[in-house]
Amino acid sequence: MNIHEYQSKQILREFGVKVPNGNAAFSPEEAARVAKDLGTPVVVVKAQIHAGGRGKAGGVKIAHNIDEVKQFASGLLGKVLVTHQTGPEGKQVNRLLIEEGSNIEKEYYLGFVIDRKTAQIVMMGSEEGGMEIEKVAEETPEKIFKEYIDPVTGLMPFQTRRMAFRMNFKPEVMNKVTKFMDCLYKAFVAKDCSLAEINPLVVTKENDVIALDAKLNFDDSALFRHPEIEALRDESEEDPKERAAAKAALSYVNLGGDVACMVNGAGLAMATVDIIKYYGGEPANFLDVGGDSTVEKIAEAFRIMQSDDQVHSVFVNIFGGINKCDVIASGIVEAAKVVGLRVPVIARLDGTNVEAGRKILKEANVPGVYMAADMDDGAKRAVELAAAKKSELRIKA
Ligand code: ADP
Ligand code: MG
Repeated sequence: MNIHEYQSKQILREFGVKVPNGNAAFSPEEAARVAKDLGTPVVVVKAQIHAGGRGKAGGVKIAHNIDEVKQFASGLLGKVLVTHQTGPEGKQVNRLLIEEGSNIEKEYYLGFVIDRKTAQIVMMGSEEGGMEIEKVAEETPEKIFKEYIDPVTGLMPFQTRRMAFRMNFKPEVMNKVTKFMDCLYKAFVAKDCSLAEINPLVVTKENDVIALDAKLNFDDSALFRHPEIEALRDESEEDPKERAAAKAALSYVNLGGDVACMVNGAGLAMATVDIIKYYGGEPANFLDVGGDSTVEKIAEAFRIMQSDDQVHSVFVNIFGGINKCDVIASGIVEAAKVVGLRVPVIARLDGTNVEAGRKILKEANVPGVYMAADMDDGAKRAVELAAAKKSELRIKA
């Protein structure tokens, strides 16, 4: 789960990480009020969206008086910001962070992330902080330093010191920097983060060490331990299809193509995405209905898949184990009844109760539902039918 920068900064503050004074604002008037309360000569107006790259896209503005704050706030609120992280459709700005401007001397990068290979938290740091860290990682990876953290001992003082030296901080701020790393690590562990990224971490002309940007991601599987984090969820930032799927206990990821897939098991779901690509199609989603499907769950999966306007065919690819093909078949028939099928459906059923499942589909004889001989045949036809549906729509338009 993701949260906004201002929410991340509030959490970090509680753990002793130094962040600029500031507050969220939802209107230009509120922005002006927050700026007035801050009372600093320079105020920064920052768009709050669940994506980085705002600086380059015009989402971070430096204001020198209250009128400017108001002007920048009304310019940003309601605007769709397109950054290199949002995708071409961008994200609408509904909230702002109004914070004091810092007197930046130098920008650094500091992050904690879980390294899957070693199953440890790794701290990463670089002197080349600011807005171009992806470029640094690609072109000069040797400029990013890493410390792997033993879960038994936690982050050790020699590691924070070594990192601080490698990142080339000046001696006057060394102690502040190592304390900063300790506090950020404590927040990461206590809140079950999967990522904590400070880019930039800055040293100011007054020798303060501050998190100027803050991005925290949380492990969804640990959210049950953190109702206070769950409360920070901003549904307007999330894909409504993914939300609906989570509520129905379906594992769904939007992939943006036009062939929707309904599959059981993550392995088969990935193989399905691959085979659709192999036949020249673009999968619309990854959807794993899990092992305990009911007729209602299948119908809900159809509702979610078809709510995507881009979808032009549905490929049902089920290998029945605990899931039974007759339940899946009844789910398709039910979906046709209660949800309606606006695109062709190709069903490949195999495994437990396959004969019963095929019989149900054959007898129901739902228009637009086709049986596939096998997975290969199903994928090929799903891609062909999506292309045909697309050109049919184009002709109509
Ligand atoms: P993003 O990563 O989305 O581009 P950041 O919060 O990192 O957004 O801001 C981009 C840049 O804007 C920073 O690298 C920094 O130079 C400047 N900036 C951000 N916040 C402040 C602030 N409070 N005071 C001064 N400059 C800031
Ligand atoms: Mg940043």
